[in-house]
Amino acid sequence: MPISSANIRPADDAGIAEAAACLAAGGLVAFPTETVYGLGADACSGDAVARIFDAKDRPQFNPLIVHLASTEASARQGALGEKAIALAAAFWPGPLTIVVAQRPDTTITPLVSAGGDTLALRVPGHPVAQALLQQAGCPVAAPSANRSGRISPTTAAHVAESLGDRVDIILDGGACPGGLESTIIDVSGDTPVLLRSGLIGREDLAAVVGDVGDPADPGEIQAPGMLPSHYAPNAAVRLNATEPHSGEALLGFGPGFSDDGAMMRNLSPKGDLREAAANLFSVLHDLDRLSVVGIAVAPIPETGLGVPINDRLRRAAAPRD
Ligand code: AMP
Ligand code: MG
Repeated sequence: MPISSANIRPADDAGIAEAAACLAAGGLVAFPTETVYGLGADACSGDAVARIFDAKDRPQFNPLIVHLASTEASARQGALGEKAIALAAAFWPGPLTIVVAQRPDTTITPLVSAGGDTLALRVPGHPVAQALLQQAGCPVAAPSANRSGRISPTTAAHVAESLGDRVDIILDGGACPGGLESTIIDVSGDTPVLLRSGLIGREDLAAVVGDVGDPADPGEIQAPGMLPSHYAPNAAVRLNATEPHSGEALLGFGPGFSDDGAMMRNLSPKGDLREAAANLFSVLHDLDRLSVVGIAVAPIPETGLGVPINDRLRRAAAPRD
């Protein structure tokens, strides 16, 4: 039975222009690529990226792939070394994601990299994705356009079935030719590492950059956000606090907590979980820079985006090795 949904647009000139404007305004757009349909948002807006996690019901903030129109646009966000440039020249535009170190002046919100210091970059070759990225003018963070834990979508109807009106626009560009997620190679360290296999094979990559290794522990490296103590601030983190102890900074949430821009910060004074998700990593970084002994964290409701926020805070508070 065909799925009809009010937010599906044909990927013609008018549909692409509308979708690009929607992205630039902080909206969510599902779009076809040569691999699967992506659920895109402006990668420079914490609030827009938080909407991705919200729409997917993702239980964790795992890092997202950033889609860009060109290698030049990628080089403004990531530090493209010799290997990344060689891979980009060989496989972009195409189904390859390259993990590199972030540039210190990157404009991408820290929520995209789950507080880490790398970026996963891709220049897709699908003509609809290319046109959309060029017109939107911003880097676009996009995981697959399905609810968390479901199968990746390769048609607009799959997206509509899974996400419905949680997405502002679904650009219908027909079935994705690839149907398999992008190959991910990490060149941020000394030896290139294959994080995920895909349409571009290990031998193709090795022909360009030499030996390609495997993650030491696939489970850990593929999803840095899943480590029990990933992005731990230097300060000890104390959860479910109602007020700070002496020497502690306070990470508040909701109207009961103030924000002085220094030792007391509030993820969302109005108690909005999406705003809290958008602020989480940058505020944690800010508090950690104060070299405090500890960070007391106010209770955050365990609903909606509160689930991944609490997941991340529990990891930040977990015992360190
Ligand atoms: P998806 O977009 O749902 O296909 O999944 C994105 C994949 O890219 C996940 O396996 C992530 O762990 C991986 N990924 C995204 N960003 C990074 C990064 N900075 N470092 C390592 N892996 C990443
Ligand atoms: Mg996925």
